[in-house]
Amino acid sequence: MKTEGQGVARAVAEVPPARPEQHFTGLGVSAGIAVGPAHVVERGLIDVPEYRLEADAVETEIARFREAVALSASQIRTLQAKAEALPEEVAGQLRHLLDAHLLMLSGSRLVRGVEARIREARINAEAAVQVQLSEIAQAFAGMEDSYLAGKIDDVREASARLVRNLTRAGYQAFSGLAPGTIIIAEEITPADTALMARARIGGFAAALGGAEGHTAIMARSLGLPAVLGVAGLTGAVRSGDIVAVDGVRGGLVVNPDEATIARLERRRRALERRERQLARLRQVAATSQDGVRVTLQCNIELPDELPLAQEAGAEGIGLLRSEFLYMNRDEPPSEDEQYVALKEIVGGMAGAPVTVRTLDVGSDKLAYSLGEHISPSVNPALGLRAVRLSLRTPALLEAQIAAILRAGAHGPVRILVPMITSVDEIRQVRKAVDKTVRKLTRARVPIADAPPLGVMIETPGAALAADALAGACDFFSLGTNDLTMYTLAIDRGDEQVAHLYDPLHPAVLRLIRFAADAARRARLPLNLCGELAGNPRFTAMLLGLGLRDLSMAPPHLPRVKQRILALDTAQAARHARELLSQSEAGRIARLIDAYQQDA
Ligand code: PEP
Ligand code: MG
Repeated sequence: MKTEGQGVARAVAEVPPARPEQHFTGLGVSAGIAVGPAHVVERGLIDVPEYRLEADAVETEIARFREAVALSASQIRTLQAKAEALPEEVAGQLRHLLDAHLLMLSGSRLVRGVEARIREARINAEAAVQVQLSEIAQAFAGMEDSYLAGKIDDVREASARLVRNLTRAGYQAFSGLAPGTIIIAEEITPADTALMARARIGGFAAALGGAEGHTAIMARSLGLPAVLGVAGLTGAVRSGDIVAVDGVRGGLVVNPDEATIARLERRRRALERRERQLARLRQVAATSQDGVRVTLQCNIELPDELPLAQEAGAEGIGLLRSEFLYMNRDEPPSEDEQYVALKEIVGGMAGAPVTVRTLDVGSDKLAYSLGEHISPSVNPALGLRAVRLSLRTPALLEAQIAAILRAGAHGPVRILVPMITSVDEIRQVRKAVDKTVRKLTRARVPIADAPPLGVMIETPGAALAADALAGACDFFSLGTNDLTMYTLAIDRGDEQVAHLYDPLHPAVLRLIRFAADAARRARLPLNLCGELAGNPRFTAMLLGLGLRDLSMAPPHLPRVKQRILALDTAQAARHARELLSQSEAGRIARLIDAYQQDA
């Protein structure tokens, strides 16, 4: 782990724990241990723009403010629903808190005051919230009644939420933090994670979020220790408290004492030693005991991860999640901007292939720059997302394809299309690729020579129609994260059902085998880029199912390679057959563990 040996000692020396240590548990979603000062995101307001409005812009600004109020209220209602699943003592406290926040958003002095200021002072909504909050805070400060004076915290929380929703600024304040800071928040989105510079942020913990959501995936890729779904976290930590994040066991300790820090430090050093040993495998080819060569590639979601993939010895980028290009900005990126970013990555891989996935926003991966194209959906996981959005907005799709084709002039690229469910969709994308090739060729722009076009198999529909899809594309990539979610109807990012999310469910394994068989019959290259690929516990099963190309978060590659070096693929195939004959995920898990021990 790249986290903070010296940081631990330094932070503790500066801010000795003033309160007794408190333990919380959640889902350890990204291995690693970090100790450092907390930065609690829910508190306080972020810097906001201030400007005067023209007279005719006032009503539009009021409408924008009302939208932010409605969005804030709906976010709080979601939190209320989630809080009900917590143990009663925690749920009770949260209920109280969230009710108060909701109240602040309905006809309160805050809301009325902001609207009046927009109308009368003709200032933008964010600035009006700030001014109104200061005025209320001053009035509260003079109150004798400590209960009422305490209510200012609720006004602050509600104001902060309003400003975040108005500015859509996420947590930009990350840039000003001390090295080794641990981010603590109610919720951390993938877009927020994209803002976390590894040199600055030691790790993070949030009350919401599941182990297979994109925030968790990004934490793993970046090697940032993280714990999500921490019950009772909200309100328990103050900025500046020393906190320890144990992403291996899913623990969070607030104000850890010296003995706890020493224990965590010993474990952190042991993890680091193990990583150093594994790093020696970098130059070794991933060949099994019986001589079967396996290709190991990396998934990346940010250009920052490229050096990590190179250090891990990736033989290519098996999945470049292109959403980063669209996040934390107001307008979608131009073709040129995308080209420059992709060219860096393709050039950086020095001749190794880069599989660029077209836009997969929607569900938990929101990009405000696409706001005008995606309206709120009753069920975003099933809504206008990924390829559906791309086909609805041909200009966006063609700009992205053009950028990929142009980057392909600097090294081998493949185009991968997410959330395909029908042959018609991939045919439409191919048409868009052909059209863009013709256009760029006419303009004499250097481009890739016919890059392969692939389909993500990540819905049960795609897996069951794999034979048909095979005839319309050049390769498959198995997205077991979504395949598990859609097969079992379990939200991968929801901590309340995280215990039910199980890629070892017989239905998921059968769909993987079904798609793998279809690929083999059609002689189609097949890769697996879901999180299963990065867990050495499943490597024998995947090789046994016939997979020979795995793509994973960079920190996981050495461990998977080590496992492959010890495996025999004929034995692994027998193991996979046995697993597939089972009817229960629990039994499959036990057989997998027994096989690991025998190996
Ligand atoms: C998947 O669904 O398995 C996948 C690799 O894509 P993502 O995690 O980005 O949805
Ligand atoms: Mg997916």
